Amino acid sequence: MPLISAKQKPITDQQRIKESNLKFIFDAILRSEAVSRSELAQRSGLSPTTVYSLVDEMIDGGVVSEIGAEAGAEETAKVGRRPQLLRINSEGAFIACAWLSRAHIQCQLFDLKCNVVHTRRKRLSQPVDYNAEIQSGLDEMRGLVAPGRLLGLCVALPAVIGRKNRQLNSTVLHVEGDKSMLSYLEAIPLDMPVVLGNESIFYTYAEKAAYSPSDIRNMLYVNIGAGVGAGIFLNGEIYMGSTGLAGEIGHMTLDMNGRPCECGGRGCLERYVCVPAILESYAQEKKICASDIAFEDFVAALSNGEPAAEAVAAEAARCLAAGIESAINLLDIDTVVLGGEISLMGEPFLQQIGKNMFATINKAASRCRVCYARLDRGACLLGMAKYFLDNVFQLSLEYAQKLYII
Ligand SMILES: [Zn+2]
Repeated sequence: MPLISAKQKPITDQQRIKESNLKFIFDAILRSEAVSRSELAQRSGLSPTTVYSLVDEMIDGGVVSEIGAEAGAEETAKVGRRPQLLRINSEGAFIACAWLSRAHIQCQLFDLKCNVVHTRRKRLSQPVDYNAEIQSGLDEMRGLVAPGRLLGLCVALPAVIGRKNRQLNSTVLHVEGDKSMLSYLEAIPLDMPVVLGNESIFYTYAEKAAYSPSDIRNMLYVNIGAGVGAGIFLNGEIYMGSTGLAGEIGHMTLDMNGRPCECGGRGCLERYVCVPAILESYAQEKKICASDIAFEDFVAALSNGEPAAEAVAAEAARCLAAGIESAINLLDIDTVVLGGEISLMGEPFLQQIGKNMFATINKAASRCRVCYARLDRGACLLGMAKYFLDNVFQLSLEYAQKLYII
């Protein structure tokens, strides 16, 4: 091939069908340790000729390898030799991911099986030129990959990404009203798609993949750290809303006369349950300065049973339960996963949330399970690679040389 070609325009229906078939075959090989072409034809319902042609294309592109003959298999009349088993050549192509947070940029290069082959974590000092940081990470990752073997770039950040006004807004990063990142990403001279998304979506994507598909149909992933973001899985699909802004649970109003929020509102959930807000409450209780306390210190005080820390945790649990319950009332979610630094508060905090939720007579809330994320903080990058891989064939047609915002 190459798998991704920016020269395939205009896109015909025939090309879309071919891309869809390529994706099916790629996924089928990826899920198997070893699989033959005839098995792929059976699974896909495609003709053996079509499967042979698609597989040959993937072998030529270096993403699939033949690993030897099927044990006990007879020679086929068509090719006069025993059928060869196929596997994904994990190092046949790579995905570059860059994740911006308040204090760091972390870049990871993933292979086709979502193994990490390179990591770079850099501390950011203010003021940050985010575009230059992304470019620097990308340059380093490109330097590690043979020409034509990079499938694309995926960028995640804790920000609301306006598809229509093309602005970034964040209560975590200093990007208020920024329009330059979208222009910069669109202008990157790469023959491959660039994906930009809110980090919570990628956390959600990775976390969902950690469960069996039948285990969760409707999930809310609430990422609580420097801010509060969320991703929503409904009926097995990520729900983005009409303009891609679904999941802003952090700015759900708990108290119309409450603490002012950087979003311009008052009494937002984020102002009571994100890490800086918890530290602010704790500092008020202790009559000290919030900037003098690390979250780990608060967690240590909580596990030691310090009354001030317990009071703050109880109030945060009450607020979080109210926010979660409102989301359940709206969406009839069956699982709420809490990710991010909040999980350091441990099982007792989870139980407090449950107690506050289940004290109501809301049937949907009483059926819903609330748990901590199975995956750690690095799951954002894994989710980016998985998202990219799961959508790359479609992206190759519709979004080559374009910025794709999720
Ligand atoms: Zn707000």
